[in-house]
Amino acid sequence: MYCNLKCLQSGPKLLRCESSHTPAILLMTTYVEGSSSEDDGGNSWIQWFCGLKGNEYYCEVDSDFVLDRFNLTGLGHDVPNAQQAYDLLADDYKSDDDEDIPPQVDTSARLLYGLIHARFIICPNGLHKMKRKYISGEFGTCPRVLCNSQLLLPVGLSDVPRNGTVKLYCCHCQDVYNPKSSAHSTIDGAFFGTTFPHLFFQTYAHLRPTPSSQTYTPRIFGFKIAGSETLAKMECKQ
Ligand SMILES: [Zn+2]
Repeated sequence: MYCNLKCLQSGPKLLRCESSHTPAILLMTTYVEGSSSEDDGGNSWIQWFCGLKGNEYYCEVDSDFVLDRFNLTGLGHDVPNAQQAYDLLADDYKSDDDEDIPPQVDTSARLLYGLIHARFIICPNGLHKMKRKYISGEFGTCPRVLCNSQLLLPVGLSDVPRNGTVKLYCCHCQDVYNPKSSAHSTIDGAFFGTTFPHLFFQTYAHLRPTPSSQTYTPRIFGFKIAGSETLAKMECKQ
């Protein structure tokens, strides 16, 4: 449990942490001791959220994108406490006292951010930010030996929230894999969506690897194993 954000608002000081049940006074103590706000230079909810352990796949959605309500069209239907969640994302959340952010608002803000994120990463700025993460290998490499450590991209198998966790797509073998880290394997796949990696390689065609032509051949004592069709023919002759 930790807190690395001091919310810079004209109103009451708000401190956020992983656990919304933590008393505010403890949060303030943790923050001062850690002094992480000055270390990472982050001071917005989005920067704080993306800096959390396990959230490395997310890129920071531009504040302009969040503030443009057109980009959020239709998202409010899927998010409880949508207005409060939005205020939190927009760093406009107001509280009457130093109480911690209610857990239901925190949960809604994370859901809303994920849904906005899925839209952001398929716009030019979002694709560019994800390209930097891809090139730096932040999504890992393909576990398939014959893919020779091909870089991966996150993808969802559904665009509907709570309908599956994020997977990693390899453009070389054109297959998907579960993330290695348990911290990443619980991220909702809808926060990346089904379109992202494919639009990514349409946009950055020079980064697209040639599809894999190598296949693994099983052998016993150096000899290829007969396929099921060959075995069936041999049985017929006998
Ligand atoms: Zn692969």
